[in-house]
Amino acid sequence: MIDFTFPPEVEEIRMKVRQFMDEVVRPRWDATDQEDRAEVVKTIGKLRYKAKEEWGLWLPHMPKEWGGMGLGPTAMAAVSAEAGKVGIGPFVLNAQAPDEGNQHTLEHWGTDEQKEKYLRPLCEGTTRSCFAMTEPEVAGSDPTLIKTFAYRDGDEWVVNGHKWFISGARGAKFALLVARTEEDPAIPQAANSCFIVDLPSPGWTVVRDVHTMSGGHNHCEILIEDLRVPAANMLGGQGQGHLLGQFRLGPARLAHCMRWLGQAELALDLMVKRSMERYSHGSYLAEKQGIQWLIADSAMELYQSKLMVLHAAYKIENKMDFTSEVSMAKHFVANSLWRIIDRAVQVHGALGYSTDTPLAGMLMQARWSRFADGADEIHQMRIAQRTIAAWNDFGSTKKATGDLPL
Ligand SMILES: Cc1cc2nc3c(=O)[nH]c(=O)nc-3n(C[C@H](O)[C@H](O)[C@H](O)COP(=O)(O)OP(=O)(O)OC[C@H]3O[C@@H](n4cnc5c(N)ncnc54)[C@H](O)[C@@H]3O)c2cc1C
Repeated sequence: MIDFTFPPEVEEIRMKVRQFMDEVVRPRWDATDQEDRAEVVKTIGKLRYKAKEEWGLWLPHMPKEWGGMGLGPTAMAAVSAEAGKVGIGPFVLNAQAPDEGNQHTLEHWGTDEQKEKYLRPLCEGTTRSCFAMTEPEVAGSDPTLIKTFAYRDGDEWVVNGHKWFISGARGAKFALLVARTEEDPAIPQAANSCFIVDLPSPGWTVVRDVHTMSGGHNHCEILIEDLRVPAANMLGGQGQGHLLGQFRLGPARLAHCMRWLGQAELALDLMVKRSMERYSHGSYLAEKQGIQWLIADSAMELYQSKLMVLHAAYKIENKMDFTSEVSMAKHFVANSLWRIIDRAVQVHGALGYSTDTPLAGMLMQARWSRFADGADEIHQMRIAQRTIAAWNDFGSTKKATGDLPL
């Protein structure tokens, strides 16, 4: 029999996260002047202290020896979907991008010294990090094109290049930097290596916080000029930067989807609530068939999104091949998120377009979900390739559609 329930201990954590977000985080965050940087920093510090010391909700995705809660991917879906209902929620739990992905990466690829120096304080919440791969001059969708180049000089690597959209770069204590180290690799995927860069460092210049359609959110442009990195700071082996990036991005993509579930659910809740309160042409909006169709479409898409995320998480947890399922979930949830928030804006009318509800900000944030961490078209390309390969290998496409017992 298939059991669609969480074990009692996971359900207990899920409800605790919900309570913490509802009773502590949201009221405090809503009362914070988010234009005032000093107040924001103070609020986050206080909320993180409460999460860690008073509620025991800290680092849910990391093993206990790193001060975490030791939750696996399916339990993380429950936690992140709850925390994701408040924009700042994952950060309060120290489970935000890009640190969450960097923590997993360091845990898996780091040497003991690298873990103690970089992972330990990151887990304790005393530092932040960033992940620097994308470049303005070449397509981020194809990391084999990376131009930032590192050459060996004695016990150091010397790096030159240009990065942008590096989330959290301002204030980060270190960066995981992907750079080309091989002039003539055996395969294009073996051209890059990854380095841990202490910040600030001479040769690493934050040019600007790239302003986006939803404002400035510390996604920075970085100029790298004769940056010197100790050879001991290579993370993983030489030429393994692509492999490491793929290792990091697979689960990190799903972690995004988990947070997006919370955002999508919030949008649907707001849409239904508004439709039951707003009266026009003789009835409430909720009683109009045209609005019911919008509600139904959003409900179906959220349901599908949850199933896809849980199934992909289940595959990761059980050490099964998860690449296709994560690709499908990433594409589907990102697009559903966009549509679900957009429908909620529609039902709110002018109010939805205003910044009096969280919907406008959520919609603008949701827009990047369809191309960052793998653009829609790249995932579609890979999904199609795997589906064709399944047909070629097994005479059936079944393996490429979740490989479910159906
Ligand atoms: C909010 C935000 C945060 C980010 N944070 C980080 C970060 O912390 N670190 C980091 O390194 N990067 C980060 N990025 C960058 C992100 O990973 C890239 O935007 C992404 O990899 C796509 O690369 P690109 O923008 O260069 O688009 P491109 O690769 O130029 O692609 C543009 C479009 O072309 C199309 N396309 C590309 N290739 C193909 C193809 N083969 N077939 C069909 N269509 C194709 C797609 O429609 C795609 O959307 C962030 C981006 C955003 C928006």
